[in-house]
Amino acid sequence: MRKIDPNAPKPATHVRCPDCKEFVLKEARVCKHCNCKLIPESEQSTV
Ligand SMILES: [Zn+2]
Repeated sequence: MRKIDPNAPKPATHVRCPDCKEFVLKEARVCKHCNCKLIPESEQSTV
């Protein structure tokens, strides 16, 4: 039986950094792994 880490990245709460491919929070503005700038999903233009 494997323990489930409550802080484990999940697609529901995390996105993959386009730069380093690590999971980062959707709300994050900067990737905590590589410091690349991220655009929060809610701020992405849909046009
Ligand atoms: Zn990154």
